[in-house]
Amino acid sequence: KQTKAVLARFQYYSQELNERLAQKAELERLLKEAVDMGQFTMFYQPKVDLRTGQIGGAEALIRWQHPVMGTVSPDRFIPLAEETGMVVPIGDWVIQAVCAQQAQWQREGQRIVPIAVNLSALQFRESNVLQTISGALEQHGLDPRWLEVELTESLVMHDPEAAQQTMRQFGELGLRISLDDFGTGYSSLAYLKRFPFHYVKIDRAFVTELTNNPDDAAIATAIIAMAHSLRMSVIAEGVETEAQMQFLRSRHCDYLQGFYFSRPVPAEKFNKMVQDGNQLALSSDLSRPPHT
Ligand code: C2E
Ligand code: MG
Ligand code: MG
Ligand code: MG
Repeated sequence: KQTKAVLARFQYYSQELNERLAQKAELERLLKEAVDMGQFTMFYQPKVDLRTGQIGGAEALIRWQHPVMGTVSPDRFIPLAEETGMVVPIGDWVIQAVCAQQAQWQREGQRIVPIAVNLSALQFRESNVLQTISGALEQHGLDPRWLEVELTESLVMHDPEAAQQTMRQFGELGLRISLDDFGTGYSSLAYLKRFPFHYVKIDRAFVTELTNNPDDAAIATAIIAMAHSLRMSVIAEGVETEAQMQFLRSRHCDYLQGFYFSRPVPAEKFNKMVQDGNQLALSSDLSRPPHT
């Protein structure tokens, strides 16, 4: 009787497993198709340099436009793409796309700013991401200073030794590295200092409540002060209000990124914003000196 119950349960589990595998295979097929059919595009979100009030850089964010499903958010497909391994070819496509775009703007004589791509854990750990990047830079004749990478804390902490080594190679290549979503994990900045990060990105979670929650204000202030004393620059993510902008400015944050300045936008629109440098500064009133 017991055997029967166990068997029934096994059948249930294996059915569930089969369904999961089928779904995974289906998703893998969809993602392959997306790469082949050109359903991915890159959007760009400006990072405003608080010293100049100008766009000092950008983050490249992938968008999946599926003919039936419509726009699929990266939060929904990147984790799944990670599970199937498809995140590696997708990530390679991202690197190619951003390098090609930057090189095209440069050929046209446009002003360009460094653009950061997000690297996924699998892409960082198990692929030849260094070769992919250096190959893409070379192919497009692009100086490494125009490409940056964003890595999360959990990605780095998974295998600190290996991460340190890969990051050192990035550095030798001339790439700048951001520590993304900082504050959501458990590591201290003092520990993370052993990794060659140039920028720390304060996670949106602390920025959202910055002006209502004294704890979040204290955390953001401490992150900025500590990053500076460790010779790293600070980027605040998810800045949505004037009050948040003023607060971060008074604490000498270096760069701001968020809907207050601009949502992620298509390449053409982003390029216009970079060329027409004053637009952002005027709309956000960065021309005034910060009040402390
Ligand atoms: P992330 O790297 O932390 O990117 C920042 C996310 O915050 C983006 O969401 C951006 O649109 C959003 N954001 C920016 N400013 C604001 C704001 O003021 N308010 C709010 N509510 N949100 C803001 P998105 O584009 O949906 O991307 C989500 C995540 O997906 C990214 O988080 C990143 O982890 C991943 N991702 C996006 N593109 C790529 C990619 O090309 N490769 C990889 N591996 N991951 C990617
Ligand atoms: Mg990022
Ligand atoms: Mg982030
Ligand atoms: Mg994030």
